[in-house]
Amino acid sequence: MSTPTDTLTHWIDGQRSALDSTRTADVFDPAHGRVARQVLLASETDVSRAVAGAAAAQPAWGALAPQRRARVLFRMKELVERHSADLARLITREHGKTFPDAQGEVQRGLEVIEFACGIPQLLKGQYSDHVGGGIANWSQRMPLGVTAGITPFNFPFMVPMWMAPVALACGNSFILKPSERDPSPSLLTAELFRDAGLPDGVFNVLQGDRVAVDALLEHPDVRAVSFVGSTPIARHIFETAAKHGKRAQALGGAKNHMVVMPDADIDQAADALIGAAYGSAGERCMAISVAVAVGDIADALVEAVRTRAQKLNIGDGEGDGIDMGPVVTAAHRERIVSLIDAGIAEGAQLVLDGRRHTVAGRENGFFLSATLFDRVTPAMRIWKEEIFGPVLCVVRAANLAEAIALVNSHEYGNGVSLYTRDGAAAREFGQRIEAGMVGINVPIPVPMAWHSFGGWKQSLFGDLHAYGEEGVRFYTRYKSIMQRWPDSGSKGPEFVMPVN
Ligand code: NAD
Repeated sequence: MSTPTDTLTHWIDGQRSALDSTRTADVFDPAHGRVARQVLLASETDVSRAVAGAAAAQPAWGALAPQRRARVLFRMKELVERHSADLARLITREHGKTFPDAQGEVQRGLEVIEFACGIPQLLKGQYSDHVGGGIANWSQRMPLGVTAGITPFNFPFMVPMWMAPVALACGNSFILKPSERDPSPSLLTAELFRDAGLPDGVFNVLQGDRVAVDALLEHPDVRAVSFVGSTPIARHIFETAAKHGKRAQALGGAKNHMVVMPDADIDQAADALIGAAYGSAGERCMAISVAVAVGDIADALVEAVRTRAQKLNIGDGEGDGIDMGPVVTAAHRERIVSLIDAGIAEGAQLVLDGRRHTVAGRENGFFLSATLFDRVTPAMRIWKEEIFGPVLCVVRAANLAEAIALVNSHEYGNGVSLYTRDGAAAREFGQRIEAGMVGINVPIPVPMAWHSFGGWKQSLFGDLHAYGEEGVRFYTRYKSIMQRWPDSGSKGPEFVMPVN
C-alpha cells in the first residue's frame, strides 16, 4: 500500500512498511497547535505480520554469543550519541518539551543502552561444582522469544530505551508500540538499530492504538509485555497479559509528593519544586505534583514558589531560554483546565492561575502557564487524581508523621522526595514511606540505569521493575542444569530421594 510521505509508517523486517494499515491518527505540533502529520494505526493482521517476522528473526539472534549482541549495542550507543540532537528535535516537535530537556531524555535513554552493553557479565549465571556424586549444578538465563513494549507519549525515546536494549541484549526480539501522539522518534531509533548492525526483524515498530495493543496481548507468540502509561491501561495490560499466559510489567500513573521540613533551605526547596513541578509542563511520571509543607514553613514556601513560578519563560520548546513548552494536545490541555476548575470549586486556594496563556507568534499552541494551589486537602480531586500538567498543589501538615501518613494514604506510590537538613528525619522517612523511588534532597529520584525503575501500589502492576538487573530478570527465563559424567557401568536404579 502506498502512503503519503507525511504519514509515519511501521518498521518491520528492517525497513519502513505500511503493512496493510488503513486507519490513521493525527500527530500534532503542540507549539503551533496544528496537525503536523499522520501516523498509521496497525490492524490485527498487521500485528500478526510483525510478530511472525520477530519470531522468525529471534532464534538466530538469541543464539549469538552475548558479547556479539553487546557489540551491536556498543555501536548503537555511538549512533545515539551522534544523533542525539536529531532525536531531541523530533521529541520537542511532537511532545513540546524544551530542546535541552529532550536532550536530557536522550541521555537517560542512552544510559540504559550503556548498561545493556555489559550483558555478558549480567548473563554469566551461577555455578556450583561438585554438589554431590560428581554432579555440577549451574543456572543460566535464557531469552523468552518475542517481547513487546507499549510506551507513553511523555518520553518517546527514553521509555522505549528502558525496555528494548535490555530485551535485545538478553537475546529476544522486540516489538515497540509507541504512543500514537509522538511516533517519530521510534522510527529514527529503528534506523539507528539497523545502522548498528541489528539483524532485520529483531527490533520492530508497530504504530497504533488499542487495536494493536490488544492484538499483541492476545498473540500466543508474544511472551512478555512491558508497559508504561496510565494506571487504568496498566491494569488492563497486566490482567489481559496474565489471562493469555504472558509475563507483564505494567508501570502506571503517579502523584508524587515532596515533603518540605521546617528546617529545609527554602530557596533550595523552592527551586527544586519549580523544576520538578513545571519542568516538561508537568508531563513526567516523576513530576512533583504535591508539596507537603510541614509546620511553620508553609507560608514562606508558597511565596517562594509563587515568585519563581510567575517568572517562568513559556514558549515553543525549540526557542532559546524557554523553561516550559506546551502540553501535548488540545484535549490534554482541556482536561488539565477542567481539573483546575474542580480544585477551585472544591475550595482550594488558587495562588497562581495558569489556565490561559498565549505565546506571541504561537497563538494556537497548546500552552498553559504555572498553576499553584495552596490549602489543598485529601478530599479534593486535585489531590487524588494525576493531573499530568503544570499544576502544583500545596498541602499543609503539622509534623513529619502526619506528612508520611498523608503520602502513604495515596493510591499511587511512584516517586517521593524529602527536603530537610535532619538526618534522623531522612532516615525515618526513607524507611516508612510507601513508594518505589525515594529522594532525600533530590526532587526527581529516577534510578540510574544499573538500578531499576518502578513504583509501588497502583503505580506498578507486576513484580519486576524496569531496566537494571530487574530488567534482565524480566526478559529472561531461568534454567537450572545438573550434569554428571559418570564412569561407565551400571550401578542399578535408585528409588530413594537422592541426598548427600
Ligand atoms: P496512556 O495510558 O494513555 O497510553 C500509554 C500507551 O497505551 C500508549 O501507547 C497508548 O497507545 C496505549 N493505550 C492507550 N489507551 C489504550 C487502551 N484503551 N487499550 C490499550 N492500549 C491503550 O498514557 P499516556 O497518556 O501516553 O502517558 C501518560 C501516563 O503515563 C501518565 O499516567 C504517566 O504517569 C504515565 N507514565 C508512567 C511512568 C512510570 O514509570 N510509572 C512513566 C511515564 C509515564
